Amino acid sequence: MAKSSGPALKLNLPKLKPCDIDDCKSGVIKGLYHEMQCANCNGSGVVNAHTGEPVPEDLLIPAMAKTISHLKSEVRCLKEQLKRQAETDPNQRYPENMPTIAGGKFRMD
Ligand SMILES: [Zn+2]
Repeated sequence: MAKSSGPALKLNLPKLKPCDIDDCKSGVIKGLYHEMQCANCNGSGVVNAHTGEPVPEDLLIPAMAKTISHLKSEVRCLKEQLKRQAETDPNQRYPENMPTIAGGKFRMD
């Protein structure tokens, strides 16, 4: 039997997903007169993606931090992609003051 002492070498952080309750907006449910903390997600707005259960508080903050960091890098990547696309997009070669017709730039072609 393997002996273990001290904390785990790696935190086993759960994957998060938005709370399943339709009325739950970021962990808050609006009643007729007052707001309540959502019982399904313990007011966090997210649940364990695999079990659908609320994430324990000690794992919630690092799991959210990991999710935020992942989303930040995704946003950075998409911004770079947009920038590259704008540089190569033929529509960007036309001046900004071209007339817009039917939701698109009228390019006379
Ligand atoms: Zn909820």
